[in-house]
Amino acid sequence: MHDVQAGAGPAQDIDEVAQRELESRAAGLKAANTWHATRTIQLCREACGGAGYLAENRLPVLKADTDVFTTFEGDNTVLLQLVAKGLLTGYRDHFGSLDGWGKVAFVAEQVRETVLERTAARGLIQRLVDAVPGRDDDVALTDRGWQLAAFEDREKHLLQGVIKRLRRNAGRKDITPFDVFNDVQDHALTAARAHIDRVVLEAFVAGIERAADPGARALLETVCDLFALSGIEADKGWFLQHGRLTPARAKAVTSAVNDLLVQLRPHMRTLVDAFAIPDGWLACAILEEEPVRQQAMAAHDAELRAAGAQPQADDTATALEMTPAQ
Ligand SMILES: Cc1cc2nc3c(=O)[nH]c(=O)nc-3n(C[C@H](O)[C@H](O)[C@H](O)COP(=O)(O)OP(=O)(O)OC[C@H]3O[C@@H](n4cnc5c(N)ncnc54)[C@H](O)[C@@H]3O)c2cc1C
Repeated sequence: MHDVQAGAGPAQDIDEVAQRELESRAAGLKAANTWHATRTIQLCREACGGAGYLAENRLPVLKADTDVFTTFEGDNTVLLQLVAKGLLTGYRDHFGSLDGWGKVAFVAEQVRETVLERTAARGLIQRLVDAVPGRDDDVALTDRGWQLAAFEDREKHLLQGVIKRLRRNAGRKDITPFDVFNDVQDHALTAARAHIDRVVLEAFVAGIERAADPGARALLETVCDLFALSGIEADKGWFLQHGRLTPARAKAVTSAVNDLLVQLRPHMRTLVDAFAIPDGWLACAILEEEPVRQQAMAAHDAELRAAGAQPQADDTATALEMTPAQ
């Protein structure tokens, strides 16, 4: 990072492309991570019910603290604009200045042929993408190359859409350049988000490649599947709208996500411990009291089972018998 920002040698040696990529990466990851933190803390708060709202369990303080992360050090939406600008500038390097779009004929074919740059472990990721067998519908959802290709294809398609719209409107005399960009802002922000998703997935794949321990590697592969497929599931509207997923395959993605959650559930503690969170940060009442409560409930359930009764823990809310409207 220092080398890119300061240049390895004299000031004129600064690599502008690398610098732009670094700025764009920092902006996009800041936005993605802070939104993720806010969502995660809210989810934890709700999962703990009323206890999650108690100050002694620290979640309210964490939430108040991290909530503003989405605004300071750069508002996330504005940072995503910076990412989008970086992506569009990348195209400008290929096709000439963006300023003269109104005058330059748009060569759709060239855009279609443009290959997005790999953001991590280029050789490995290219090999995985190239190895995707057969038609989309026949490929396993856990095929890493298919997942990578899906993320890449979405980003490329979104970016091409933004470029087409910008070029189309750039020639109009009745709107200002500001309005031209403003009109495609939602599209540009979606492209930026898709880019960051790809950056994260490619970094994940590169990270797995560096993992030496076979057990850790296997676990990371499963978490990576969950990241990729839950991302596709969250955006399945786009994948369906653009014919990238059939309805049957979109349903299969949801099932696969649920299966992965079942697979990963027993490893949750290992995954959390991997962050080596210091004990001092975990000091909250719910963590101190909950294990004892869980043990007491497990002992009670064991007693019921021994007496031939079904413990309530095996039931879900939908199994409860309730009169309508209760
Ligand atoms: C707790 C805290 C600590 C801070 N510490 C510092 C500090 O140490 N040093 C410092 O310099 N600053 C600091 N700031 C300021 C911080 O950097 C700004 O609050 C931040 O950049 C957002 O700017 P703003 O508050 O003017 O909001 P605005 O920029 O007015 O944003 C308000 C809304 O408008 C939207 N918006 C803004 N521009 C656009 C656009 N072009 N297109 C579309 N939507 C747009 C945003 O997405 C947002 O939803 C701090 C702020 C907070 C809250």
